Amino acid sequence: MTIPEISLEFFPPRDLEASFRLWDTVQVLAPLGPRFVSVTYGAGGTTRDLTRDAVATLHKHSGLTVAAHLTCVNATRAETLAIAQGFADAGVRDIVALRGDPPKGAAGFEPHPDGFANSCELIAALAEAGPFTIRVGAYPEVHPEAPNQQADVDWLKAKLDAGATEALTQFFFEAETFFRFRDACEKAGIDAPIVPGILPIENWKGVSGFARRCGTSVPTWLDEAFTAATRDGRQDLLATAVCTELCSELIEGGVDKLHFYTMNRPELTRDVCHALGVTPKAQLENVA
Ligand code: FAD
Repeated sequence: MTIPEISLEFFPPRDLEASFRLWDTVQVLAPLGPRFVSVTYGAGGTTRDLTRDAVATLHKHSGLTVAAHLTCVNATRAETLAIAQGFADAGVRDIVALRGDPPKGAAGFEPHPDGFANSCELIAALAEAGPFTIRVGAYPEVHPEAPNQQADVDWLKAKLDAGATEALTQFFFEAETFFRFRDACEKAGIDAPIVPGILPIENWKGVSGFARRCGTSVPTWLDEAFTAATRDGRQDLLATAVCTELCSELIEGGVDKLHFYTMNRPELTRDVCHALGVTPKAQLENVA
């Protein structure tokens, strides 16, 4: 089986304890040789400074390629581009460019009167201000605001045409979901890499609730399996098995890159990667 390349997503720590947890996570996962690690930007732009600091620190001290998430929410164009320039000044040239989620409690996305109206505008401005490597989000089960899958795929194509070079997907639970989406993208003439987003399931109650909120369907078999495993205290085993199986099916279907939503916890991602052959040793052999 092909050994996949991986990338890892973190969120910026809010306090000292969380900073140590993130750093421990980085220490455990860095030897797996990720293509890049990315740091999210809180909903509503709430973690602007924390994201900037985490990105700069990781870039300076981890030796990894760091990508900064950047959204259009609650900021003027000039402010958003100044943040991007700040990343570039710190030596960070990889950006995950997003429209962004609105602040908690808001009905939906409202562009700032002087801000970017949507992700395509942000991507085009970054491409012009560049050089940046720009990645974007993609939605195998259709973004909740898209009228249908065709419109969603057409919009993804517009984001790539505006200057992005790769898409990272929302998480999903069944490989077929990704393959159907990949086929639709191919049919629409998209030839950029579409990298599956993988969410190792740390806590089923939290993950299934989050999935329902963002339009990811929750298969009945998975819900039943976690209900039984939680009752028997073996949810960690199940989580590793389920995630490894999903990744294996994706790889068998031709996927060679995976993007892990680590939630700043290293164990599950590490165990799944090891099961897939992504080990410190495999990375050394790749370099040799
Ligand atoms: P877009 O793809 O621009 O828009 C979402 C959908 O709405 C599109 O698929 C399209 O169907 C429709 N749409 C929007 N505008 C138009 C238009 N003008 N014309 C036609 N259709 C349109 N959120 C954060 O706040 N911070 C993060 O760090 C963050 N990281 C993420 C990382 C990944 C990999 C993913 C997949 C999502 C992330 N999100 C993050 C969530 C994301 O911000 C939300 O899903 C948001 O609602 C959409 O952002 P987007 O850039 O993907 O939107």
